[in-house]
Amino acid sequence: MAKSIDGLPLVETFHSLQGEGLHAGRSAFFIRLGGCKVGCSWCDTKHSWSEHVHPQRRVEELAQDVLKAARAGAAFVVITGGEPLHHPLEPLTSAIRSSCSLPIHLETSGVDPLSGSPDWITLSPKRHKPPRQDLLASCHELKVVVHEADDLLFADVVAAQAPQAHWLVQPGWDSQEGQELAVAKAQRDGRWRLSLQNHKWLGVR
Ligand code: SF4
Repeated sequence: MAKSIDGLPLVETFHSLQGEGLHAGRSAFFIRLGGCKVGCSWCDTKHSWSEHVHPQRRVEELAQDVLKAARAGAAFVVITGGEPLHHPLEPLTSAIRSSCSLPIHLETSGVDPLSGSPDWITLSPKRHKPPRQDLLASCHELKVVVHEADDLLFADVVAAQAPQAHWLVQPGWDSQEGQELAVAKAQRDGRWRLSLQNHKWLGVR
């Protein structure tokens, strides 16, 4: 786990559209940090798992990249991973706030304590490593990936602990069973919303 307060292991940055969740379709600048010990079998960013293969990047430099993205039309910045909360995020969010007023979104599995001061928390909890109660209670959207029926049972359990959040079910990519289950869930229970990975369907980043 990285302890540096000046730098963070960086996989990549890019300016695109948010592909999934409640803010899908909006212009976003992504900061993907390296390091994840959650170990999801279906993970589509396994190259991010080892933080040591990714160079440390100073938070001030990242904040300047965010400023440039804001001038290029980004509506918000997304801190993602990997699991970004494996790292202390306060230096990064402070540096971003010093550079511009872009809202800061955080995507997390919720296994670590919250750090930094995100404006929007997307919590994507995992059955094999359930999230912290305080993250459930403070997230803005709860996005549960669905591959099989047990994922929907899990979705109801975590949603009961996140009554303040928007609830989304998202089929696992290439999971026919997950698609059918997620569509049926959203159809029969109006508290849930279907989330699709639009960027993958469109073949964009
Ligand atoms: S928490 Fe995210 S980055 Fe980590 S293994 Fe799971 S899907 Fe991949």
